[in-house]
Amino acid sequence: MKKNSKPSGFSTRAIHAGQEPDLETGAVSPPIYPTSTYVQQAIGKNKGYEYARVSNPTRTRLEKNLAALEGGIASRVFASGMAAINAITTMYKSGDHVVCGNNLYGGTPRLFTQVLAGHGIEFAYVDTSGVEGVKNVERALRKNTRMVFVETPTNPLMALSDIQAIARVCHRRSTAELVVDNTFMSPYFQQPLALGADMVVHSTTKFLNGHSDGLGGVVVCTKPEQIEQLSFVQKAAGAILSPFECWLILRGVKTLAVRMEQHDSSGRIVAKFLAGHKKVKRVFYPGLPDHPQYALAKRQMSGFGSMISFEAGSLSNANKMLKKVRICSLAESLGGVETLISHPATMTHAAVGKKGRKEIGITDGMVRISVGIENVEDIIADLDQALHAI
Ligand SMILES: *Cc1c(COP(=O)(O)O)cnc(C)c1O
Repeated sequence: MKKNSKPSGFSTRAIHAGQEPDLETGAVSPPIYPTSTYVQQAIGKNKGYEYARVSNPTRTRLEKNLAALEGGIASRVFASGMAAINAITTMYKSGDHVVCGNNLYGGTPRLFTQVLAGHGIEFAYVDTSGVEGVKNVERALRKNTRMVFVETPTNPLMALSDIQAIARVCHRRSTAELVVDNTFMSPYFQQPLALGADMVVHSTTKFLNGHSDGLGGVVVCTKPEQIEQLSFVQKAAGAILSPFECWLILRGVKTLAVRMEQHDSSGRIVAKFLAGHKKVKRVFYPGLPDHPQYALAKRQMSGFGSMISFEAGSLSNANKMLKKVRICSLAESLGGVETLISHPATMTHAAVGKKGRKEIGITDGMVRISVGIENVEDIIADLDQALHAI
């Protein structure tokens, strides 16, 4: 695969991998199996399913599908994105060391520092973005570093980390595995495993499902031992995804390619509009030529997506405009068909604290938009009238 080309055959895989018609009835849409247990033919003789925490046919289909989209050997799905990230960390023990980006989805450092650090896993937070980021990761690696965890682009600053260069450093200098949170780009625009990452995680709650109607998370793997461990965690810890949610995501991914094309096209238009607006001080979007990692964005991703942040100048300005939006909904989350707008300092990144936010550059005037697939003229008109309230 050319590094930044769209993965070939993507839509076909999205619609067909794991989505084969039902053998029993020919149903084109995969059946939902709402069962907790399965009848066994004799002691030790069954059709591969025993108890639903261990496995479920709808879940098996989704796990096949998502592995095919990311180019992994297999995947395991969990009850939320956080449950998926937590499942990975069960591979690590007290005394292990993890290097991670200093600007992650707010829930990730909360899990790391408030839950796992207490279990003896050590975390080092570094700026993993740009050329310096690769050196920062290299400097932070230790003998006992087991994982490097990177989110690119970051939330909400849209900084990009060089997946290929960081993967090389991990594999040359340590035994650490590189895990990439690919939620913002989806496998349609970014294929971390093809760039050398060892695992990919997603909050399927966002673009993969795409309709703001179900939580979920996935880990896509490159090695059988990772899958073995995650299957064990599903069985042992039990934070599995319900068959109905699995079905929602199977349904959502069928339109992932066309949705992402529209998200990307509208994202570019909205970013340009904001960059030219007199009430907007600064725009953070990897598709703008003044973005510090614009060259990396073009090399590493095959689109720029629809996540945009901008600086409204102050908390009061942000509040004035957020009160006025009509089509854009003031809400947490992202990646749905509807445009969502949020205020990171008081919403997604409130748990990071004022000092933490200042260190990474999240201001009180920062606003984040997940551009949906409504008519882009309507989105722009809505933002324009709301910005005039400033
Ligand atoms: C939402 C999100 C998560 C957490 O996923 P949940 O499904 O809400 O648990 C993790 N990473 C990123 C980048 C996210 O946007």
